Order: sequence, then structure tokens, then C-alpha cells
Amino acid sequence: MSTQTMEETKLVKSELLKDQVAIVTGSGRGIGLAIAKRLAAAGATAVITDLTQESADAGAKEITDLGFKAHGAVCNVTDVASVEKMAEEIMAKFGKINILVNNAGITKDTLFMRMKLEDWSAVIETNLTSIFKVTQAVIKHMSKANYGRIVNIASVIGMHGNMGQANYAASKAGAIALSKTIAKEYASRNITCNAVAPGFIDTAMTQKLKPEVKDQYMKFIPLGRFGQPEDVAEAVFFFASGGSYVTGQTIVVDGGMFM
Ligand code: NDP
Repeated sequence: MSTQTMEETKLVKSELLKDQVAIVTGSGRGIGLAIAKRLAAAGATAVITDLTQESADAGAKEITDLGFKAHGAVCNVTDVASVEKMAEEIMAKFGKINILVNNAGITKDTLFMRMKLEDWSAVIETNLTSIFKVTQAVIKHMSKANYGRIVNIASVIGMHGNMGQANYAASKAGAIALSKTIAKEYASRNITCNAVAPGFIDTAMTQKLKPEVKDQYMKFIPLGRFGQPEDVAEAVFFFASGGSYVTGQTIVVDGGMFM
């Protein structure tokens, strides 16, 4: 099945998430946008948040053009004021937040001995501390409603480490541990918190890698292809739509690379 056909199949409309509101951070493009589309196709209103209103609105338009519901909002996940403003705006507009996907992330790769503190801090702030900030702003509303589905986008690198990615690996390992802790603290409020750990997914983040690095990865992928954003979206959809007896878990979506 071609990627195009696969995406079309997965975007068949359903009503599983009808009347639900789903925030996806960093979803103007890439994996975040694919997740937002998947949730919107199942009936949710997808809140596309990104660094600029322009990018958020462009992502939201892609979804409304498909006939689904979406709303664009600015949210810099490293900035508490921006995060709180976004959460309050969504509560004022829709009155609820049922699903939160902490997706925004960056890389700043270099070998450990050359890594500058600012590159370490930028990655930890954007990939890990952001989950603390956004989840704190949102979970109080989920807690009052006695319902919530939180999914954090981690990485296989957070489970195995990787040369040149000390900051990234630490941030993603932290995301997995934080997911488990939130899962334990909020289970009694009917809020689940899980993680998805993608392998090599074909997005702007990986397109900047050198061809020889990509070839090297490909050798270790039994399914014989790089992942597509829609592959990750499918795992997020499971945690967001069903899986009510599953919490604190991490699903690996890597074509079998680390089995
Ligand atoms: P992209 O670089 O394609 O997209 C990242 C998105 O995050 C962009 O929309 C970007 O906005 C946004 N973003 C960056 N910084 C911030 C910020 N401070 N506040 C809000 N939004 C921000 O990456 P992917 O789609 O590939 O990655 C998505 C997630 O998946 C990340 O957490 C990544 O670590 C994870 N992942 C990706 C893998 C891959 O192979 N691609 C593998 C494993 C995990 P802008 O466009 O304005 O820069």
C-alpha cells in the first residue's frame, strides 16, 4: 500500500472522539500535524499549537479543508506565560480539554565533549520541561472533569541512547519517566498518561541528516522503510481513543529497529 493510500485509509471519518477537544503541541507540521489530523478525523476538534499564529492557522486549515474540525493557537512550549494563555484561551472557547499530546521537540546534536550547556538546556527545555509546563496548565481542567488522555512523544533514543544526542536522549528518557509518574498520580482522576517512542520517522527533523547516516539506520529497520508521521499518529490515536485500562506505558513505533 502506498503512503498516500495508507493516509487516506486512516483518515476515514469516524465519531469515536466526537465532541472532544485535543491539543497537540508543535503541530504546524510533521508528526504533530499527522496526529492532529488523525484525532480530527475521529471527530475531535484538533487544536493546532505552534510557535507562530501563521503556522498554527496553516495546520488548522489543512484539517478544516479535509472537512474536520480544527483551531489554531500560538503556544511556545518553553514559555509558561504563552502556555497558560493558550490553555485559558482553549478553555474559554471550548469549555474543555479532553486530550493533550505533548509533541513539540527539537534536536541540537553534537558529541558530548563538544556539547555546549546552551545546547543541552535548549533541548531539555523544549522536549522535557515543556511537558511539565503544558501538562500543569492543562491537567487541572482534566482533573476537574474527571477525564483525560495525555500522550507524550518520546523516542527510542530515550531508551537506548545515541552518539551525538546526549541532550535529546536525556530529554526523551525524562519524558518516559515523567509519563509514568503522571500516570500514577492521576489514575484516580480517570486520566491516563502514556508515551509513544518513534524510531526513524521521515520529517524535517530527520531530512537534515546526511544520506550515509540514513543508510546506516535503514540497515537496522526490519520492516525496510522509514516511518511516516501517520505511523506515529496511529499509536497516539490508540491511547487517545481507547486503551482506557492502559496507563504509564510506552509504545515503540520503529519498524522493528530495537526489538
Ligand atoms: P519537526 O521538526 O518536523 O516538527 C517539530 C514541531 O515542533 C514544529 O512544528 C516546530 O515549530 C515545533 N516546535 C519547536 N520548538 C517549539 C516550541 N518551543 N514551542 C512550540 N512548538 C515548537 O519534528 P518531528 O515532527 O519530526 O518531531 C515531532 C516530535 O517527534 C518531537 O518531539 C521529536 O523529538 C519526536 N520524534 C521524532 C522522530 C523523527 O524521526 N522525526 C523520532 C523520534 C521522536 P516550527 O515549525 O515553528 O519550528
